[in-house]
Amino acid sequence: MSDLEQRRHLVTAIPGPRSQELMARKHAAVAAGIGVTMPVFAVEAGGGVVKDVDGNTLIDLGSGIAVTTVGNSAPRVVEAVQQQAEAFTHTCFMVTPYEGYVAVAEALNRLTPGDHEKKSALFNSGAEAVENAIKIARAHTKRQAVVVFDHAYHGRTNLTMAMTAKSMPYKSGFGPFAPEVYRVPLSYPFRDAKQVDGPAAARRAIDVIEKQVGAGNLAAVVIEPIQGEGGFIVPADGFLPALSTWCSANGVVFVADEVQTGFARTGDLFACDHEGVVPDLIVTAKGIAGGLPLSAVTGRADIMDASHVSGLGGTYGGNPLACAAALATIETIESEGLVARARDIGQLTLERLHRLRLEDDRIGDVRGRGAMIAVELVRPGTTEPDPELARVVAASAHQAGVIVLTCGTYGNVLRFLPPLAISDELLTEALDILTTAFQEA
Ligand code: PMP
Repeated sequence: MSDLEQRRHLVTAIPGPRSQELMARKHAAVAAGIGVTMPVFAVEAGGGVVKDVDGNTLIDLGSGIAVTTVGNSAPRVVEAVQQQAEAFTHTCFMVTPYEGYVAVAEALNRLTPGDHEKKSALFNSGAEAVENAIKIARAHTKRQAVVVFDHAYHGRTNLTMAMTAKSMPYKSGFGPFAPEVYRVPLSYPFRDAKQVDGPAAARRAIDVIEKQVGAGNLAAVVIEPIQGEGGFIVPADGFLPALSTWCSANGVVFVADEVQTGFARTGDLFACDHEGVVPDLIVTAKGIAGGLPLSAVTGRADIMDASHVSGLGGTYGGNPLACAAALATIETIESEGLVARARDIGQLTLERLHRLRLEDDRIGDVRGRGAMIAVELVRPGTTEPDPELARVVAASAHQAGVIVLTCGTYGNVLRFLPPLAISDELLTEALDILTTAFQEA
């Protein structure tokens, strides 16, 4: 990545001819269920840009869905993976273990919220780690029920489909889903008609839990501290602490799904840190390993140790290349001050978007923290979602060479997840392009 020029530069229309050829091959060879946001094929990426097969250089506001937080092909990650690849690529930690896995577990135990004794287990994907958090919580509590929230996203495996809220595209036609999963109301300040405060919103959720599930049946409450796919929904202050307190008082395992929010993304190392919430278990993935597939469950040692030996695991979980990448990612975050960088990115982005909102009443809400920021688009003067506007603005940003993603239960949210290696100049240029896209939409 080192010699990749850090500027937006278009030499063809988007998509260019070579991307179009590859898209035709993709349609012929790849299952239709695998969608793409932009029909542009990448050849190189780093800093704040992605270069495509036609020679276009695009500004990256997606980080491959919040993964390349330290930047794509970040130098320490590349070097660590190269060295590990030369030494060995796999033995299976469950057959002949290796130090990298233990070192990642130690780092997670040290860095995640709370100074109690912790242990970790490593997996491959976010969904796989969420499933394992549930296995561990059930083994510990000897209870079965799992509570999740409106608008939640936890993955695409069978149990995590049940935990995910949105039917289309994640669940529709793929049932039956896993049992004993119960959904309760979230704190969604923009859509909470009565301006419910955080503790009151928690009370509302707890009432549903107590009446419809019963604390005595409940193994775990699983929540994204800032919801990702659901629309970057930041709950009102006090919501997470009240839920966590209720869980502690009722012997329920409080699980923070920090797959999207973790590893400096929100301007704290973990989003739970913002309000000093200490989850019993925390699930991490995405930003943990600079682009290599790795995920983890970390938490209270007594809970983590609840499973019998060999009840947890998997062939590839904690793969040595991914562990080397994770250690290099953590070193990069710490030595380059990336938590502070995420806060600066948040400040710059929020300032621009709040200004834009003053001029444009189709922007109903601006929210998020750090480098996890979104705008929710509505019909002017209402809270009625406008997914078509989100689609049009995203498409015109794509045409202009900016990678931007949408999300939200109603599909009306534009989300910004730049790599923390992006320059202020590139970020500002991308926000200029978005401003123009709004004006033209
Ligand atoms: N939890 C959250 C909060 C996520 O954002 C995601 C992915 N978007 C997942 C779980 C699932 O992760 P994966 O795609 O790696 O299975």
